[in-house]
Amino acid sequence: MAIQQIISPEVTEPAAGTWSNCLRVGDTLYIAGLTARDRALAPTGGGEYEQAKLIFERIRHLVTAAGGSMHDVVKINMYLTRIEHREAVWRARREFFEGAFPVATLVEVSALAQPEILLEVEAIAVLNQGGRPVRAVMDGHRASEFVVAEPVVTAVPVEGGRGAFPVRRVYCVGRNYASHAVEMGVDPGTEPPFFFCKPTDSVVSNVLDAVAVPYPPGTRDLHHEVELVVAIGKGGVNIAADDAVRHIWGYAVGIDMTRRDLQQAMRQAGKPWEIGKTFERCTPVGPIVPIGDTGELASGHIALMVNGELRQVSDLSKQIWSTREIIATLSRLFTLMPGDLIFTGTPEGVGAVVDGDLLEAKIEGLPALQVRIGPVSQGVAA
Ligand code: MN
Repeated sequence: MAIQQIISPEVTEPAAGTWSNCLRVGDTLYIAGLTARDRALAPTGGGEYEQAKLIFERIRHLVTAAGGSMHDVVKINMYLTRIEHREAVWRARREFFEGAFPVATLVEVSALAQPEILLEVEAIAVLNQGGRPVRAVMDGHRASEFVVAEPVVTAVPVEGGRGAFPVRRVYCVGRNYASHAVEMGVDPGTEPPFFFCKPTDSVVSNVLDAVAVPYPPGTRDLHHEVELVVAIGKGGVNIAADDAVRHIWGYAVGIDMTRRDLQQAMRQAGKPWEIGKTFERCTPVGPIVPIGDTGELASGHIALMVNGELRQVSDLSKQIWSTREIIATLSRLFTLMPGDLIFTGTPEGVGAVVDGDLLEAKIEGLPALQVRIGPVSQGVAA
């Protein structure tokens, strides 16, 4: 899927074609061009009332899958071709979503030129009350090709409203600062850095406000790890360290949120770390800045504060493996592709956070990243 353009801030005319994709840029979710022509939405060729209900159901599914509710939907644009069906469509909305969102959320925009389409709907949801509504025009697969609803595409805003960076994979480097390895009880001289991954859809960001991260279930020791994040713009295998900078699209500040007690327990049991490193919204990332603006970041101040108190402070030059070496090594193990993010490890000073804490992560030359820890999320409280 390619993002063609991002138009900000006003919604304009509908995208050409009948695209059926969903994009999350930061905490704003765009659902573009669900049409009643898609087989998946109108499997029986049912009437306009049934078709409208299926489209509204699908919007709810996509918003829920992205971690929101229908109350987060700020606007639904509805394009009717056959105006005589307006009443049936509005009846579907009233019956299906009565009280779920204000009537003003649903906007009847215009008639489309294609007479075979009864209606086309696009929605904008601002999740967690953050982010800035902008319009994403996308191309991609028709929904009718998929047997279940396709996952939401995750993207990170580019600094200055200059588009969005779609995320493919998230690689992380463990113990890449000697002082952090020591605080984890490991001798950095005997064990070199290593890799793990975090799920793509755990990446969350927000342009205007702090990123909301609910305190996850199953832990009593949620930790922050501030890290330099490298965004890959050009893929490759067996990349030479000397050539690695050409593969970097840009940089961001990230926090590798970690259920430390679960991570340590699994580590001691010789089992995979997954439950320690992965949970909902565990990978906040700030806006990405193109490398053309920053130059190569091989040194610079890196720090994290909790409620204004300095917890982590170091310099990027203290990394055991440089970003160049990390890219070279990763590309011998995996095929790097545009859209990959690499968390390059955290310095010493990691520690626990609780509900209500405000985290501020900073790296010299990049926009700061703020995270607000929320109440314990649904699930078993520790
Ligand atoms: Mn980390």
